Amino acid sequence: MKSKHTCPICGEGQFELLTEVVVLPYKEQEIKVASRMSLCSTCGSEFVNAEDSRVNKRSVLAARKRFDGLLSGEEIYEIRKKYELNQKVAAQLFGGGPVAFSKYENDDVSHAESMDKLLRLVSRSVIAFWELVEQSGLTNEIKKPKAPVKDVSFLKSHQNVVLVNFGGNGFKPIEKSHSYARGSASAETFGELQWK
Ligand SMILES: [Zn+2]
Repeated sequence: MKSKHTCPICGEGQFELLTEVVVLPYKEQEIKVASRMSLCSTCGSEFVNAEDSRVNKRSVLAARKRFDGLLSGEEIYEIRKKYELNQKVAAQLFGGGPVAFSKYENDDVSHAESMDKLLRLVSRSVIAFWELVEQSGLTNEIKKPKAPVKDVSFLKSHQNVVLVNFGGNGFKPIEKSHSYARGSASAETFGELQWK
């Protein structure tokens, strides 16, 4: 049965994915890149289809980034996720068009050295990140996550004094004197609260 994977040369063989390492010149030196192609299992013909071509192009760019000491697409993705930014907001914050981060992360486009430095700085320093958010006027788009506070509401009686007077005036109604501490606090600070 013929499928889209059937070899057009012999009309019988099926394509198998083959990856080999090729050496390419880059900046008067060499970089090694994994290159993908389809190989006919019957006649041995080799093809590079559109998908192979796209993957190979990204591999070359990724290898060039490594050579240049730039962050990889995966590393940029991790930084973006660390601060829970979508790609559009990331571009507003760090610079670039709305699809810039999609291209960086897919190794479709190489980012500038200045962008690399900014991303590394922000990755290392949470303080720098929030300074940048403020400087970029994105405090509405990028909200500081609230500290994980476990709310413990409480209402506890400090004293529960029952006064009973069995004196000469007869039985006195029971009086209760309560003093309450009210409020809520994190579980961590609960033990430090002072009763009023
Ligand atoms: Zn073939």
